[in-house]
Amino acid sequence: MNRYSLITEKNPREILLLRGSGCKWRKCRFCDYHLDFSRDEDANFRLNTRELEKVTGVFGVLETINSGSFCDLDANSVKKIRSVCREKGIRQLHIECHWRDRHTLAEIREDFQKEGIQVVVKMGVETFDTEFREQVMQKGMEFASPEEIAQYADEVCLLFGITGQSAASMKSDVETGLKYFRRVCVNLMTENTSPVRPDQAVLRSFFKEIYPEYKENERVDILLENTDFGVGGPENEK
Ligand code: SF4
Repeated sequence: MNRYSLITEKNPREILLLRGSGCKWRKCRFCDYHLDFSRDEDANFRLNTRELEKVTGVFGVLETINSGSFCDLDANSVKKIRSVCREKGIRQLHIECHWRDRHTLAEIREDFQKEGIQVVVKMGVETFDTEFREQVMQKGMEFASPEEIAQYADEVCLLFGITGQSAASMKSDVETGLKYFRRVCVNLMTENTSPVRPDQAVLRSFFKEIYPEYKENERVDILLENTDFGVGGPENEK
């Protein structure tokens, strides 16, 4: 599995897929990303160190993702991230966090800020239609509103291509994302091991009515495959 990549278009940054103890929620109906985890902290630290040593600092911006939240990384990996940021001149660190772990963010932001590193938090919201999000997707976000989410997250991920979505709902999601957050990252549903299948009619309406409108928008990332950032893939590793 490739865990390091460079993103050169829109918001250039280095990106690393690290490994932690795993998502604690694991109930989102569309997801099998949470399979990338290990309870062995030493093995995680070894793997994360190997990947972190690839960081060059070329853009001064690093994104570290791991299935679950940043707080699911072991303490030594977090220390290593901090030292790599220091050594490579990283001034902005992008991380991911699930809603249920939002209360860990203030301390994380403060710890990095002490070293002059700004933390930018991306949260997988998937849609702002709270009924659909909680009852169909089972996202575990307690019907939180965009205003509430924006108190914790700077950027959001949306997930399109699921039965029940429409061009109007997808447009409304992107617009809400742009109104309340700095950036929006659109993921398209692809085949995985979860029970949810991509809905081809919804995807067709995405490509016809949504994609042309936002593809050049500097604040919108659109991942046509969930490995489009250059990291991820099917296997697990030690
Ligand atoms: S989408 Fe995120 S929060 Fe939901 S089960 Fe997967 S890893 Fe966990």
